[in-house]
Amino acid sequence: MAVEKIDPDRCSGCLRCVEVCPMDVIRPEGPDPKIKYPEDCQSCYLCVLECPAGAIGVTPWRAIPLGNVYGCFEKKVGSTN
Ligand code: SF4
Ligand code: SF4
Repeated sequence: MAVEKIDPDRCSGCLRCVEVCPMDVIRPEGPDPKIKYPEDCQSCYLCVLECPAGAIGVTPWRAIPLGNVYGCFEKKVGSTN
């Protein structure tokens, strides 16, 4: 996961993060923002930059098995076939 958390103790409920996220990862749930589709996060940091409260935590990595993305990790190193 790339976007990790929204700190409820810091969050003011301005919902800027909802408006700025290009992937609709963060959606409103009542008056609060909720990380709804974390698998779609692109680690663009727009929500972090826009949040006036410093409430959002984003990591630069995504927990996607690279073999599934590139299909190149099943072959053994040194394999001839
Ligand atoms: S931008 Fe920050 S303060 Fe505003 S709703 Fe999102 S997490 Fe909360
Ligand atoms: S890092 Fe970018 S894609 Fe991920 S939740 Fe924030 S604004 Fe959306």
